[in-house]
Amino acid sequence: MTSNHVVLDCGLPIDERIRRLVEVWTRDNRGREHLLTGKAFFAVYSWHLRHRTDHDIARAEFVAASYDSIGGSDGWDAMLRERANCGTCGDRYRLENIGLCTGCMRYTCYACGAHASCTGETV
Ligand SMILES: [Zn+2]
Ligand SMILES: [Zn+2]
Repeated sequence: MTSNHVVLDCGLPIDERIRRLVEVWTRDNRGREHLLTGKAFFAVYSWHLRHRTDHDIARAEFVAASYDSIGGSDGWDAMLRERANCGTCGDRYRLENIGLCTGCMRYTCYACGAHASCTGETV
């Protein structure tokens, strides 16, 4: 199971998914193969920005290493210009204008809002 799959699997709360990834990454000499890309990176980075703390240095370093590996600020800007469909209404938005439900890992637009049936937060 790759790191991306761990993030996209909805079986655990997202903070627990990230905690496990960071643990594996740390144990495996911080190998690049454990870093995140695509939708998994979008979800984790967005979540991390909301839950940044001074305590979890390993998590911050894992996110920063993934950020660098997707191309830093240029890569992030390019990602925000990609488009995705809202899982509820189907409308298409740039990633900068759509949220992602960390409970079911589907995109949700701001008109549709958070999923009432999901326990995860929308980032
Ligand atoms: Zn929608
Ligand atoms: Zn959901």
